[in-house]
Amino acid sequence: MGYDVDRFVGSINEGLLCCICRDVLEDPLQAPCEHAYCATCIHGWLVHEEICPEDRQPLTQDQLRPIFRYMRNDLNQLRLRCVNRDAGCEEQVSLENLSRHEAGCGYGKVHCPNAHCRVELERRGLESHLLVCEHRTRVCPLGCGLTVLNSEVDSHNCVAELRTELELLRSEMIGRSEDQKHEMKLRLDSQRTHMVHKISEMQQQMDELKRQVEHLQHDVRLLSALERKRGQDMERLELEKKELLEVLKALKEEHELAKANTCRITAL
Ligand SMILES: [Zn+2]
Ligand SMILES: [Zn+2]
Ligand SMILES: [Zn+2]
Ligand SMILES: [Zn+2]
Ligand SMILES: [Zn+2]
Repeated sequence: MGYDVDRFVGSINEGLLCCICRDVLEDPLQAPCEHAYCATCIHGWLVHEEICPEDRQPLTQDQLRPIFRYMRNDLNQLRLRCVNRDAGCEEQVSLENLSRHEAGCGYGKVHCPNAHCRVELERRGLESHLLVCEHRTRVCPLGCGLTVLNSEVDSHNCVAELRTELELLRSEMIGRSEDQKHEMKLRLDSQRTHMVHKISEMQQQMDELKRQVEHLQHDVRLLSALERKRGQDMERLELEKKELLEVLKALKEEHELAKANTCRITAL
C-alpha cells in the first residue's frame, strides 16, 4: 500500500501514483510497459493475474524492475506530513527522510524499556517516565552486584538474595549435567549397537571365507589324486612301449635271418 495522498504538501505528478492503490508509490517497481506500482500492491495482484492491471499487457514477477532514476528523485523530493500529525507533530519532511524522522519522532508511541513495565507513551515523555517508573532498576548500592528494583532497594537483603541466586545456579547446573549424562548414554548406546552389528558382519565374512578355503582344499586333493594316477598310467605305457619295441626288434632280426637263408638257398 502506498502513502496516503492527503499527507502530501503541494501537487503530485500523476506518474508517481500507484496504478493499483492510487496512493503515492511505496517501494516502487515498474513493468516493461512503464506502469509503476507499490511492491506489495503488484505482488498481491500477480498472485492471481499475469497482466498489467492498467493496460492488461502480459506481466510476470520477474519482469518487474526498479523505477527510473528521475522518478525515484522526484518521489524522494515530495514533502509530506509526519504520520503522528494527529498526535501533534507539525513536521513536514521529504519522503527520502520520512523513515528517519518517524523512527525518532517525539510523538511516536514507544514502550517503556523496563522489564515488566507495560506503559506505552509518546517518545518525548519517555525520559521523565523513566525517572519515576515503578519498574526501574539499579545496581545494589550495598555492593552485592545484583540489579534491584528501585522500589525494593530498602527491603533488599544481599545475603538472602545471593543465596537464592546460588540455589538457582546450582539447580541449573544439576539439570545441565543430567542432560549431558543422558546425552552421553544415548551416544554410547548407539555406538554399542553399531559395534555389535559390525562384529556380526565380520563373523559372517569369516565364515564365508572359511567355507571357500575348505572348498579349495577339497579341489586340490582331487587334483593331486588325478595327477598321481596319470603318472602311474604313463609309467605303465612306457613299459609296454619298451616291450613292444623289443618284440619288434626280435621280429626284425628273425626276418633278416630268414632273408639271408632264402638268399643262400637260392644261390645253391
Ligand atoms: Zn499501491
Ligand atoms: Zn501497463
Ligand atoms: Zn513526527
Ligand atoms: Zn516504565
Ligand atoms: Zn545487594
